[in-house]
Amino acid sequence: MTVRAGREFLAIPGPTTMPDQVLQAMHRPALDIYSSEMVELTESLLRDLSNLFATKGKSYIYISNGHGAWEATLSNVLSRGDKVLVLESGRFAIGWGQAAAAMGADVEVLKGDWRRAIRPAEVEERLRRDKEHTIKAILAVQVDTASGAYNDIEAIGKAIKAAGHPALFMVDTVASLGCMPFEMDKWYVDVAMSGSQKGLMTPPGLGFVAASDRAWDAHKKADLRTPYWDWTEREGSEHYRKYAGTAPVHLLFALREAINMLHAEGLENAFERHRLLGEAVRRAVAVWGEGQVLGFNIAEPAERSNTVTTVTVKGADPAAIQRYAKEKCGVVLGTGIGDLQGQAFRIAHMGHVNAPMILGTLGVVEVALTALNIPHGKAGADAAIQWLGENVKP
Ligand SMILES: *Cc1c(COP(=O)(O)O)cnc(C)c1O
Repeated sequence: MTVRAGREFLAIPGPTTMPDQVLQAMHRPALDIYSSEMVELTESLLRDLSNLFATKGKSYIYISNGHGAWEATLSNVLSRGDKVLVLESGRFAIGWGQAAAAMGADVEVLKGDWRRAIRPAEVEERLRRDKEHTIKAILAVQVDTASGAYNDIEAIGKAIKAAGHPALFMVDTVASLGCMPFEMDKWYVDVAMSGSQKGLMTPPGLGFVAASDRAWDAHKKADLRTPYWDWTEREGSEHYRKYAGTAPVHLLFALREAINMLHAEGLENAFERHRLLGEAVRRAVAVWGEGQVLGFNIAEPAERSNTVTTVTVKGADPAAIQRYAKEKCGVVLGTGIGDLQGQAFRIAHMGHVNAPMILGTLGVVEVALTALNIPHGKAGADAAIQWLGENVKP
């Protein structure tokens, strides 16, 4: 017997649930890529992306996933042999750094820990020791989707300034843009990147990059540039060059609709919705943790992301929980990855999420824990309900 029927619910941190309006926006013929409608669509999206990143700098759209956007950031500003400092907080900055190393950069990892966010004071201390300014770029993620860590990008930006270090500050916002505040210019970020398929509610396949003036100065001297990623190649008025070829027309229709939805909701509302629903998940996990099997991967509450929660599982098999949730109840939970493989599952709460989706997901996890006889504190979902009832005002 199962209690699944109809649409399966994806509670994984990307690709995320796409709104029906976004799916429907693609159900139309392509545009003539030389038409004024196409040019206007591109212009509106580039402008709105810069606004989402909160920068006066220019944005670029690539036909790529996040890995492609990583390569775009690196190739545009680095030269072979440049030293890059990677700030570890889980899986993703490390992956970005591995791409940099494969491309010929000299990569150093500032050791972090899977259970915590980056410490700005450690960044400052490392940079102060780099008296010759050999470090050219610093890579960090705002949210590490594997560990569930939220990094305080503003504090890290201030630490870099406090050290008086000129390295470019490059930030991955794949798992946070549109969900949590990000202020590229105010926070001294020189290059920011993101992708379409997480908080931005759009199919996988678009990568976004924004560049500051300082990034452009580095770009002029960079020798890792290649034609597809190159910002300069995308300058000028000719629309075809904005995508270094044919525009991904339907993905752009989808993105236009998704950003329209964010505008209609209001970005501040979207951030608040993520905060409320993220805390609802945390309230449930805290209660389940009383059974001594489940727990938070990120030790410090303030360092837990509002977009994904990584739940560790000790003495039980997280895959069994995931299997039950999917096969019996139609909810797909995220898998523990990297160092947490086989030791965790993840609940995504990013992008197109609302109270029934989150409360339903929490309820299903609790059904799974009960059915599988996994010790857990009772009424975790109820704690989430209490939290929302007390904080979502009439
Ligand atoms: C998902 C993710 C990526 C990688 O994006 P892909 O589209 O899978 O290449 C990079 N950084 C973060 C923080 C992510 O969550």
